[in-house]
Amino acid sequence: MTVAAEPSPESQMAVTHTTEIELFSLAGNDGQLREVNGSFAQLLGLTPQEVNGRSLLELVHPEDIAEVVSGLCALDSGEPEVMMESRFLQSNGRWVYLQWVARPLPGTSLWWAAGRDTTEFHRVLNDSINLKARLDLALGRTSAAMWELAFPSLELTWEPVAMQILGVGDNALPTTITQFTALLLNEDSGVLNSAVEDLRANGNTEAAIRVGSGWELRHLSFRGKVIEFDRRGRPARAVGLIVDVTAEKAMEEQMLRMVMSDGLTGIPNRRAFDQTIRTEWRRAKRELTPLTVMMVDIDNFKTFNDTYGHLIGDEALCAVARALSGQMLRAGDVVARFGGEEFAVVLPGTALDGARAVGDRLVEAVRKIDLRQAPDWNLSVSIGSATLSPTAEPIKSTELLGQADVALYAAKAAGKNRAVLYEDSLSEPKTEPTSISST
Ligand code: GH3
Ligand code: MG
Ligand code: MG
Repeated sequence: MTVAAEPSPESQMAVTHTTEIELFSLAGNDGQLREVNGSFAQLLGLTPQEVNGRSLLELVHPEDIAEVVSGLCALDSGEPEVMMESRFLQSNGRWVYLQWVARPLPGTSLWWAAGRDTTEFHRVLNDSINLKARLDLALGRTSAAMWELAFPSLELTWEPVAMQILGVGDNALPTTITQFTALLLNEDSGVLNSAVEDLRANGNTEAAIRVGSGWELRHLSFRGKVIEFDRRGRPARAVGLIVDVTAEKAMEEQMLRMVMSDGLTGIPNRRAFDQTIRTEWRRAKRELTPLTVMMVDIDNFKTFNDTYGHLIGDEALCAVARALSGQMLRAGDVVARFGGEEFAVVLPGTALDGARAVGDRLVEAVRKIDLRQAPDWNLSVSIGSATLSPTAEPIKSTELLGQADVALYAAKAAGKNRAVLYEDSLSEPKTEPTSISST
């Protein structure tokens, strides 16, 4: 259920844990840790000097990188606060769970985070989940409870175990759909009414709802069917189950994240990009909005690898991924690792002017990267950008990518370290458009 990346319980005991909120850090938009307090460094088995200047992502468990990157991007895009839990590497090779809340530092490109060590909590939780799972298995129980709904009064009755599932006390089980709705997250308030409509119209329903909040948020599945009708054929009584599917949901989300994110940089991968471009392409055609795609290629990266080695090359790739992701300011903007040292960007609703501005900003963001391990190298990228305009001749999404690729080629030819927008004259030298999937 929980991610099993922890050492055995015995080795856990060797690490000291606290549950106080006492870990502080200050980091830049680039993910570089600028200042951590003594407790933070000590928890990792390092001194503050050894931690300061390191990339946050170097210290985070590979499976948690994608979540951290998306959290940092959210901060960059103006989110006032992100809360997450990630595993950090200790100098002894073990992982600790840190639950942390990060907020931007107004007027700077820095953000600060306060955290607490929740490793012990996870160990206990794991043990108790295992124990509960074994008990449930032995007793033939699941985390499900039965409900019954009467029509037309919409009165609800529950099996007592529903109290735990809904997180309510004795005698506080909702007796009407309205009371039940009040327990749910605001966004889900319409869901139960639709479920009742489903029961009336189709005789059955299956709805996803959420109760609780923050770390206590639980995903529930509410499903059931009408089992009695009145003489006029209208529903009289429905029964069903409410099931806590939080663990399954978490597992499913994690799987999806793994499948859709790039293992090295944590940003969306080629598969995610293909899906995004398909969706946005259809939307652009349907809603007659512009769509911009960009191909981004790191300059002289072969030489970089030859000079500093592949490991530092990988660091540089992560730094570029972060810098590009940090510039995705609108919901729906996506940067993905296309393959090798190439990235692809999708900007829905962005016309030529926007494409020009974003292209220049991306080039600038990469130029600003100050890679500790390669102080003498100025990382740069070349970008080719192509925009689908709602008024122009319709072309296929692969053609649009082909145009971005032609523009990228032009950016390289013009001296690299720049963004070029596609225009028809670029394809005029009778060469075939470069294949976009060749790296
Ligand atoms: P240009 O400025 O024309 O783009 O030159 P370039 O050297 O960047 O282009 P080229 O396509 O010749 O080289 C791309 C290099 O990127 C080759 C390969 O060593 C490197 N590369 C691709 N994927 C990875 C990766 O995952 N990690 C590292 N470290 N290097 C990679
Ligand atoms: Mg390349
Ligand atoms: Mg290159």
